[in-house]
Amino acid sequence: MSDMVLSLKGVEKVFGAFRALGPVDLDVTPGERLGIIGPNGSGKTTLINCITGVYRPDKGSVHFQGQDISDVEAHKRARLGISRSFQIPRPFTGMTVLENLLVPLDYCHVEGSKPERAHSVLASVGLANRISDPSENLSQLELRKLELARALVGNPKVLIADEAMAGLSEEEIDEVLAILFALNETGVAVIMIEHIMHAVMRFSQRIVCFETGRLIASGTSAEIADNPLVQKVYFGE
Ligand code: ADP
Ligand code: MG
Repeated sequence: MSDMVLSLKGVEKVFGAFRALGPVDLDVTPGERLGIIGPNGSGKTTLINCITGVYRPDKGSVHFQGQDISDVEAHKRARLGISRSFQIPRPFTGMTVLENLLVPLDYCHVEGSKPERAHSVLASVGLANRISDPSENLSQLELRKLELARALVGNPKVLIADEAMAGLSEEEIDEVLAILFALNETGVAVIMIEHIMHAVMRFSQRIVCFETGRLIASGTSAEIADNPLVQKVYFGE
């Protein structure tokens, strides 16, 4: 049995003759805070899609808690405990904040009652005071919180946060970081894909950098900041 929560071995994804990703080897330990950086088009979203089951890799394997899930469908991976938030929050319109959580909860196994679970997750992201409000009334920050809450209702082991802080102010970034730190304290591994460099550096115990589908660097925030390959990718020398 692997003690990794997530393990990718030789994962490759091609579109036609174009290799968008790989081969990639990547291990995530339980409860880790992992940052993923890389310029646009470097394969980050393709990587997430291979992990969550949107894509089946053309080569290689994806393991979750020691189990090969390469052929497991996306909704089943979500049930196993791999969850993601989307870069652009799209709440169900015409529904309250609470109802927005009850919809995905319908597909989850949770302990206790589902409304209770929804309330506690909404409280954990700071939306307790917005439970009965229509989702249309939420601010950009609140929409991000709702997006995180929707990803968390099923009690995942791994949360992949895809640019959860884009477009937010510094204070708002701090709020989202605090939510993710608190979630991580409960033992959830958090994979943060982020362009806001100071945020991903503050958050991550380890950062990996992608370029043209390849993992080109891995290390602590300080090591990544000092890495000549990373500097070249971001600053062209
Ligand atoms: P990132 O998320 O790092 O910006 P992506 O994973 O979205 O990068 O894309 C990696 C590369 O793969 C890009 O060159 C992109 O154009 C290409 N790509 C992504 N998805 C598809 C697809 N469905 N069909 C063809 N090419 C794709
Ligand atoms: Mg992307």
